[in-house]
Amino acid sequence: MKRKKLIVANWKMNMNLQQASILLHRLHERIQIHKDIEIVLAMSYLHLQPLSLQIDRRKFRQSAQNAYYDDHGPFTGEVSFSMLHDLVHYSLVGHSERRVKFGESLDDVRKKVSAAFRNDVLPILCIGEQKDEHLRQETKQVIHDQLSSALLDLTAEEVAEMVIAYEPVWAISNGTDYHGHDIATPDDAKEMAAYIRLQIESTFGKYAANSVRILYGASVNSENARAFLDADGVDGVLVGGASLNYHEFSGIVNAAYRSLHGLEA
Ligand code: PEP
Repeated sequence: MKRKKLIVANWKMNMNLQQASILLHRLHERIQIHKDIEIVLAMSYLHLQPLSLQIDRRKFRQSAQNAYYDDHGPFTGEVSFSMLHDLVHYSLVGHSERRVKFGESLDDVRKKVSAAFRNDVLPILCIGEQKDEHLRQETKQVIHDQLSSALLDLTAEEVAEMVIAYEPVWAISNGTDYHGHDIATPDDAKEMAAYIRLQIESTFGKYAANSVRILYGASVNSENARAFLDADGVDGVLVGGASLNYHEFSGIVNAAYRSLHGLEA
């Protein structure tokens, strides 16, 4: 039996509440219920509560884009996983924009992954190398370090449940043509998915390595999604820019359906 596909939209810091509500409405109209495709919308804190009243849970799950690792206390301006726990199924953790623009360290990411599990939120852990690391061919070393640090406090059962998104930072939001220099290829996605599973197997065993869901993310759109979704070991995609356009995003869901059912693109 084919594994379910997982499609995660990262709306990033976009749209006021009315615009987000219209996008959700359009997605409801366009996207059918697919029992073998799970669709997750990662939205801002501001949108989570009101859109939870609008969302059709048979079609979509909600995710946060970040949260703080302590559960409560003097952390003005932060939102904790314990505050989100009734509202979301998932949270992104360690997105490259958090690591690069907000200085999140390996330690911060590790504490956030643990805090997510402590509060029954499944982490979608984002890992990936920067352009200079890619050029120096240090990708595997970077992935190894980010992964081993982030999973340090977890059990094999927890690792089996979580999601890992491989996102080469140099290829995020870079357009459409993966034959160009700054877009990774489906073969890169396949190679890194295999590498991640191998690393997980060596620490947490076969069951965790086989069960963990691995996504590819970076400039995925309705044109190139099929090739990434067909790549061995890739369970789905994490979509930034293209998730803000309902034609594009529903095209990606359609590509996942066609990939699962072996239909022509
Ligand atoms: C992302 O934000 O994680 C992402 C993959 O963005 P984009 O699809 O725009 O490259």
